[in-house]
Amino acid sequence: MDAFYAKSLTKTYGSRKVVDEVTLQLPRGSVLGLLGRNGAGKTTLLRLAMGLLRPDSGKVELLGAEYISASAAHRERVAYVSQQQRLPEEMTPLELLDYMSGFYARWDADLARRGLERFGLDPKRPIGRFSGGEQRKLAVAAALAARPDLLLLDEPAAGLDPISRRDLLDALIELLGAVEGCTLILSTHLLADLERLADRIAVMKEGRLTLNDSLEEIQRRFRSVQLLFDREPGPDFVVPGLIQSQKNGLVWNCLLECPDERLLDQLRSLSGLQVIPNELSLEELFVRHLGKEM
Ligand code: ADP
Repeated sequence: MDAFYAKSLTKTYGSRKVVDEVTLQLPRGSVLGLLGRNGAGKTTLLRLAMGLLRPDSGKVELLGAEYISASAAHRERVAYVSQQQRLPEEMTPLELLDYMSGFYARWDADLARRGLERFGLDPKRPIGRFSGGEQRKLAVAAALAARPDLLLLDEPAAGLDPISRRDLLDALIELLGAVEGCTLILSTHLLADLERLADRIAVMKEGRLTLNDSLEEIQRRFRSVQLLFDREPGPDFVVPGLIQSQKNGLVWNCLLECPDERLLDQLRSLSGLQVIPNELSLEELFVRHLGKEM
């Protein structure tokens, strides 16, 4: 049984397909980074998954059932934190967490308390006096304390300062360690963070999934190399597998798509040319290739 299963999921606003035939299957224990520019459809996809929106066609199942028609016992294994999570402003974090503990059989009060500490949130201050970032951290702390099998986070790190972002990441890593088979889907632009956490990357563009692969496969397939020429190559010179290049005289920095090692061997065998591999971060890949395509 998959943790997340969307099949030909489509949502239209007017004549626009905001989520367009998305099929996405995630085995339990995966950590998926859902990337895409603003308006790509990430939030809509997560809202469809949570039954907050109805699809025009297709279906989506969480832990083997549609969320909207699942039993209470099933639902409490799923947690979701939206981008603009609304919390009861007159309550204190302590009261909120206490209230929520009644809804979750696996609620971990100790984890909830440590979450408040980790995020530096005063347990006794009315929530309405917290900043937007603090409220988001509280929403995440509450989601974690439910010890869900599937956690959907929509841009959890947006608007957080770097230290809070690191705390958030540590908290998520702790959850993955504490709940066996826990599956995490997070939409984010903070690619550097994803490299520490995600094992799969899905990219949305105008409602469609344009990439959906393991991080390992993505890092194997896309390579950044520096080409050093002895002299100016002829006008017909073609770099095999080239996606994007920055040329500076005899030094070319190239992003290549290499289905296998042969393509690099082919380059290395050319005379008058040195091939120097560069580190390729996800960030660079996103900006140079995916960013350009999206
Ligand atoms: P993302 O999360 O990737 O930034 P969204 O899923 O929020 O993208 O939005 C995808 C597109 O759907 C955007 O162009 C947005 O303007 C549009 N959209 C979202 N909600 C509505 C709505 N209720 N009515 C019309 N268009 C909407």
